[in-house]
Amino acid sequence: MLRIMQKPRLASAALALVLLAAGPATSAAPRRAAAPDPATALQMRLLTLDTHLDTPASLALPGWSILDAHTVTGDYTQVDLPRMKRGGLDGGFWVIYTPQGPLDVEATRKARDFAVTRGLAIRDMVAAHSESFALAGKAADAAAIKAAGKRVVYLAIENAWPLGDDPTLLRSFYAMGVRMSGFAHFRTNQFADSSTDKAKWDGLSPLGVQLLAEMNRLGVVPDLSHSSDRALDDALRLSKTPIILTHSGCKAVFDHPRNIDDAHLKALAAAGGVIQINSVYVKGLKQSPEREAALKALDAKYPEDKTLTAAERQAVLAERHSIDAKFPEVRATFDDVMVNLLHAIKVVGVDHVGIGLDWDGGGGAVGLEDIADLPKLTKALLAAGYSEADVAKIWSGNVLRVLAAAEAEAAREASPPA
Ligand SMILES: [Zn+2]
Repeated sequence: MLRIMQKPRLASAALALVLLAAGPATSAAPRRAAAPDPATALQMRLLTLDTHLDTPASLALPGWSILDAHTVTGDYTQVDLPRMKRGGLDGGFWVIYTPQGPLDVEATRKARDFAVTRGLAIRDMVAAHSESFALAGKAADAAAIKAAGKRVVYLAIENAWPLGDDPTLLRSFYAMGVRMSGFAHFRTNQFADSSTDKAKWDGLSPLGVQLLAEMNRLGVVPDLSHSSDRALDDALRLSKTPIILTHSGCKAVFDHPRNIDDAHLKALAAAGGVIQINSVYVKGLKQSPEREAALKALDAKYPEDKTLTAAERQAVLAERHSIDAKFPEVRATFDDVMVNLLHAIKVVGVDHVGIGLDWDGGGGAVGLEDIADLPKLTKALLAAGYSEADVAKIWSGNVLRVLAAAEAEAAREASPPA
């Protein structure tokens, strides 16, 4: 296990020694530290939130710590505390993701327990490193947490399948810290049709409509990423609060069921909502059949909901490195991500677009490898002519406005009618 896991620790220890060694020399011949470029300085100053961090999956990896510096080329992870500092990411919505399984009682109960455990793992991370992280509950908490020098942790549910037939179970997850929830994932479930599966409900199911009402009642932002366009239509019609797409893209740029067309984008914005641009569905990419077969075989051997031993984790990494060497991935680029982001801004304006790049969930592109590259995004937005105030909205202002609207609705529903 420890070979790869300890490598980053050794690397940072070595770096510390180098810096210590460099100390006397630099003080003997003082040199001004290079000032960060304006975009990086802005990135550090702004409140920056990503609405879809799949990083909680890393918390379950044997020997893995959020405090250590990892590398994408080493263990494929994209978010940890050292990289949050380097890339100027203040935090975001840490996802309880459950891969969709069969819709029977036994599997659903297992999924429920898995989701509870994953939520607790996020809380454990915060509790164990409370000097660096803080749980956020209200929209206003994020700025206060940044001001205290900590990283922001909101919880979110990606696939609501674990709630079973009981939308009120969302109350327990709300108590745990969940402030955003999706309905379906890659497959249609009891709440909604998936954008990537056969339709069963023509949008939201009757139970999905109940879940939406429960979200409004609690102050949980409805997330329609992954759900079908018809489900989005239903949510736009029925929700008393704005809708979010936590990690989606534009069909006009790349025609994929996971992305939405300009008409839906405009309807989302007209209802006060926001699309957070991801980095997965940005461009048509054809992988070699050999690569797809090899990855499928690896997935079958180590299903994504399986808890790996240290030895298994090492075996997965070794196999994955060998697959990547033999059948290299065809990848999108930083510019492809920017095309999606700029298209969404062009169609609905800076008040309705944000960032949800799907880190640790398949996101990333050439030149946007992990969160350490995030200042490039800010730089590209400035270069495209957007103001600091615009960039601030894109980095957190919009999502926090939507969360505040959910809070206001919950308060309204909780207060007795006058
Ligand atoms: Zn997703």
